[in-house]
Amino acid sequence: MDYRIDMTTVLKLKAFGSLISEVIRPGLCTGCGACVASCPVLALTMKGEQPAIIDRCINCGICYYQCPETSYSIEEFEKSIFGRVRRDDEPFGVYKSCFTARALNPDVRKVGTDGGFVTALLLYMMDNGKIDGAVICSKSNTELWKAEPKVAVNRDEIINNAGTKYTVCPMILGLSNAVRDLGKKSVAFVGTDHTIVAVRKSQLIKNEYWGLGGYVKLTIGLFCMECFSNRLLKEYIPNKGVDLSKITKFHITRGRFIIYSGDEVLLKAPIKELDPYVLQSCHKCLSLTAELADISVGGIGSEPGWTTVIIRSEQGEKFFNEALNAGYIEAKPLPTEGFNTVVKSSTFKRKKATESSGA
Ligand SMILES: Cc1cc2nc3c(=O)[nH]c(=O)nc-3n(C[C@H](O)[C@H](O)[C@H](O)COP(=O)(O)OP(=O)(O)OC[C@H]3O[C@@H](n4cnc5c(N)ncnc54)[C@H](O)[C@@H]3O)c2cc1C
Repeated sequence: MDYRIDMTTVLKLKAFGSLISEVIRPGLCTGCGACVASCPVLALTMKGEQPAIIDRCINCGICYYQCPETSYSIEEFEKSIFGRVRRDDEPFGVYKSCFTARALNPDVRKVGTDGGFVTALLLYMMDNGKIDGAVICSKSNTELWKAEPKVAVNRDEIINNAGTKYTVCPMILGLSNAVRDLGKKSVAFVGTDHTIVAVRKSQLIKNEYWGLGGYVKLTIGLFCMECFSNRLLKEYIPNKGVDLSKITKFHITRGRFIIYSGDEVLLKAPIKELDPYVLQSCHKCLSLTAELADISVGGIGSEPGWTTVIIRSEQGEKFFNEALNAGYIEAKPLPTEGFNTVVKSSTFKRKKATESSGA
């Protein structure tokens, strides 16, 4: 059954002006870059953390409907991706199974945020010709630690870009780069909830101009309680006396924001201190666990050094099992306590966002 939505009629009704009034001005824009990447006349660009218009808009409306913040039917999307809608006993979306997992290779675990699971899964896919690129997140060459999308095309690039960047990143521009500029045909895409929704919109809404989502073989969704503005890098971290050039890794775990230089801890601060830098859009975001991804991953629910893994789709299950059998990862069923922690955290996020929206 084809659940894709034909937006032909409604597309004419909305355009970038509507994105400004409905998404950007109310502070809902997540800076994912979907509108910029989907514009057929290249009239949009990212200015700082938000999109801006730089050329004549043809009012096609594609940007509006590709934006993850404009409305869509979660039920239709779930039916199309997973073959069914979530049940009442699935508080963090449709899933098949949950694991706690990590990379088998200790060198990969060392560079990973939690268990290095994501990096190991991408390495399996790249080494075995399952993908010809991985859209992941890198650091800017010009601004220290500024997050930028990256199309990794070999194992070194996957390993060198392991680790979480907690600041805003226009990941859909990375997907655009992979498909339009580099001619990639089959990519894995890593991102937080809103970027996964943008990829799904690109796969499921027929009018997507570049058809970017059609080239995505696997979506890996990162749990996300909140994401931060680049002001975190420009103000908070230097004000704490930490030299950005010395940093090798960031981690948020158990209510603490931790900055490392190798094995040395440069800063350990309560996550509350970062509140002024949380993106406005995060306050209204309902989903902790990237509920439309093939596989969702986070640290919540697992022991230190392990990644919590939610397998949602058949595609996700297939690649997870293949990576397991090929010896790239090891996994154990997620213990009940860990599962309950994920439920509690995702329920907390949903409740907080719902209250913030006044719903
Ligand atoms: C903004 C943000 C907030 C998060 N908040 C939470 C949280 O509250 N609770 C929780 O349990 N987990 C959270 N995570 C997820 C967690 O930090 C780990 O990414 C996840 O557990 C996977 O760990 P790993 O060791 O398996 O991944 P790794 O092997 O380290 O691989 C991580 C992959 O993600 C890519 N990546 C890094 N930053 C980004 C980014 N900003 N956008 C897209 N891709 C990126 C890397 O390039 C790499 O390919 C958050 C992630 C992000 C980006």
